[in-house]
Amino acid sequence: MTIRRHIIGNWKMHFTAAQAAEIAGALAKAKPPADVTAGVAPGFLHLAQVARALSGTPWIVGAQDCSDRPEGAATGQVACTQIRDAGGVFAVIGHSERRQQLKERSPLINAKISAALEAGLVPLVCVGETGTERGAGLTVTVLDEQIRGAFLDLTPEQVGRCWIAYEPVWAIGTGQTATAEQIAAAHGHIRQQVVRGYGKPAETVPVLYGGSVSRDNSAEILGIKEVDGLLVGGASLKASDFTAIVGCG
Ligand code: PEP
Repeated sequence: MTIRRHIIGNWKMHFTAAQAAEIAGALAKAKPPADVTAGVAPGFLHLAQVARALSGTPWIVGAQDCSDRPEGAATGQVACTQIRDAGGVFAVIGHSERRQQLKERSPLINAKISAALEAGLVPLVCVGETGTERGAGLTVTVLDEQIRGAFLDLTPEQVGRCWIAYEPVWAIGTGQTATAEQIAAAHGHIRQQVVRGYGKPAETVPVLYGGSVSRDNSAEILGIKEVDGLLVGGASLKASDFTAIVGCG
């Protein structure tokens, strides 16, 4: 059986509309391998435009966040239904930059996951320890807390519809990739925890790695048995780098 890989680019707060159009145009011309689900998460302002540019191609588009509320009085927020309406199929939830910069905590992350599932979006749930936490031997404790908090009160079927990204905070945007042993151990632990908590549906939840993935190290990371894909920040901002990581022919 071929193993499906999921490779998602997180454009963060980059690009003007013209730049987003240019990179989307380049991606539209590149063909991901048949066994790869490849996509990008543009900023909200460009989501509909990028989704239109990539419609009719194998590329998928998603959001970098979503509201925990269904609609209505929530100034400045974006509802999951609006993301769907714009052509988004997934939402990154609980990214460490939001946990750190906006103080997002587990209850809100949990509510966003529920809202995304309710609207038919795939929640791409980010977990990962800081360098200080790893240094203090707390990696597993932090991962367990984040997993428990994110999936609190969800059914196994709901958890089975999520994707998870293991993103050690100290590896994000630093050029300091986690070692193969660290990645295998963390992914193995995440898989064990979700299967212990949610049973069979959690056996097939893709667990992606994120943290300074580049075109030079992506093949090695994808070769780690416990890794089901990649969440790519900086290296997704250049079409030639990202299509190389995705393995476009
Ligand atoms: C990210 O922000 O999800 C990420 C993994 O960034 P980078 O690839 O730049 O480390």
